[in-house]
Amino acid sequence: MTSNETKSDPLAGATTLLDPVELHKAVSHVGRQINDYYGEKELTVVAVLHGAIVFTADLIRELRMPVRIETVTASSYHRDARRPGDLVVRMEEKQHLRGRHVLLVDDILDTGGTLSRLREEIAAFEPASLRIAVLLDKPSRREVDVHADFAGHEIPDLFVVGYGLDLDGRYRNLPQILALQPLESDDDASASDTAAENGAN
Ligand code: 5GP
Ligand code: MG
Repeated sequence: MTSNETKSDPLAGATTLLDPVELHKAVSHVGRQINDYYGEKELTVVAVLHGAIVFTADLIRELRMPVRIETVTASSYHRDARRPGDLVVRMEEKQHLRGRHVLLVDDILDTGGTLSRLREEIAAFEPASLRIAVLLDKPSRREVDVHADFAGHEIPDLFVVGYGLDLDGRYRNLPQILALQPLESDDDASASDTAAENGAN
């Protein structure tokens, strides 16, 4: 028996927040907004790994302009995930972004720490323009001044998994978005604290 089997199921009591049909509608909606905004201009999509892989894969197939794809990894150390200084950013070819229309794509906008830091790093390479697209937005959690130019759904302060979003590296493959039960029922923030504790990215 592995240690996993001795633990209780983290998905027990989870509820579906967005099913695959709703997700498809949300992604199409974001795709339409992006198509309308950029027209035929070539777009460089920068996907924030690992969380944005599923959203990005679906989103780019809605886009009608020429598209290039780059990736960036933004990982946080455990328990310090909320502090921008602890974010480690890795990107192969930042020089490719100079003079391009860049769209930073992430799974979820939470405190805003990750995207504001990434926005700063990318802006240093002088893209022609820089916008942000996210599937999910938790405005009630914002600590840093950053907003998504294109967003699928606003959600309340819940910890969600599936469709790219993980809990300790798992559940990214789920075709729907599930909201987990808070770990401590007496603490509103506990569900979201899980993101930091698990170094989710
Ligand atoms: P930030 O707080 O910097 O806006 O978000 C940091 C990262 O935490 C997000 O890119 C995402 O990977 C992760 N995160 C925030 N909220 C959630 C959530 O509800 N579920 C999961 N799985 N990850 C989250
Ligand atoms: Mg992330």
